[in-house]
This record gives sequence, C-alpha cells and structure tokens, in this order.
Amino acid sequence: MAGVWRKCSSCKRDILLNSPYYVCSVSTCQGRVTNYVFCSVNCWDAHLPIERHRGDSAGAIERRAPSTPDAAAEPKKIIPGQQKAAGPTGTASEDDMLVVVTKVRKYIADKSGMNTSASAYEKLSDKIRNLCDGAIEVARSQGRKTVMDRDF
Ligand SMILES: [Zn+2]
Ligand SMILES: [Zn+2]
Repeated sequence: MAGVWRKCSSCKRDILLNSPYYVCSVSTCQGRVTNYVFCSVNCWDAHLPIERHRGDSAGAIERRAPSTPDAAAEPKKIIPGQQKAAGPTGTASEDDMLVVVTKVRKYIADKSGMNTSASAYEKLSDKIRNLCDGAIEVARSQGRKTVMDRDF
C-alpha cells in the first residue's frame, strides 16, 4: 500500500509517510529489537504497563515519519514493472510473512549449519498466525485490548 511508513506497535494502524508519530523516551523501546513506534499518545500509553515503565521515567516523543519509504525496513520495495521479481519463493506475498526471514535463516544456519527452505518461512508464519489468533481470543475473553505474554 502506498504512503504507509510503518504500523503502530500498539494498535497496528498504519502510520503514513510524512505524518506525526510517537516514540518512547526509554532507550530500550527505541532499540533495534523493539523499535516501537506509536500512532498516538494513547497507543504509547498502552505500552507503559507492558514494558513496566515507571510513570516518571518515560515520555512520548513526537516525531515525523519520513516522506519516502524507509529503505532499511522495506528492502523489497516494489518497483513498477518489476513486481514479482525473481525471488526464490515467488509464491506467498511478502505481506503474509510474519517472520524475519534473514534472522530465522541465520539462527538455523548458526545453530545447525542447515539451510532453510522458503516454504519453511510460510509454515512458520502460519504457526505464528495461529498462536496470535489464540492469544487474541484469550485477551478478548478477559476484556483486554492488549495481547500479553500470558495469553500465549
Ligand atoms: Zn496506534
Ligand atoms: Zn517504552
């Protein structure tokens, strides 16, 4: 979808290019692993209990999304006339991929020296989807709008 920069870490709404967003002032929330971004202060608020920040130690910082897609986060940018580039998978759309392919590949390679087939990532994504669906149901049944570790 054009014009979307990233998704809100809390509500998963799209954060559009060149629009304001919020980050947490706590450095671990801006780290490479978490790298939280929020579409609103309310969504930033929602992560406070999850990360167990003390009220006085965390703040929301307003930023503005870049006006062009983030090259690092979006390496497979679609170039007109070049969709369906000759990727090794060529099947499932990358939007359906819930795992970071390079990290999974590296983990398996480092651990075992094995390769990982493209279909393995699709299957992993399916499993994560199933896990998330289950966790959503648990959170919903408890009247929460935030999926937490204990829901899995
Ligand atoms: Zn949000
Ligand atoms: Zn935070």
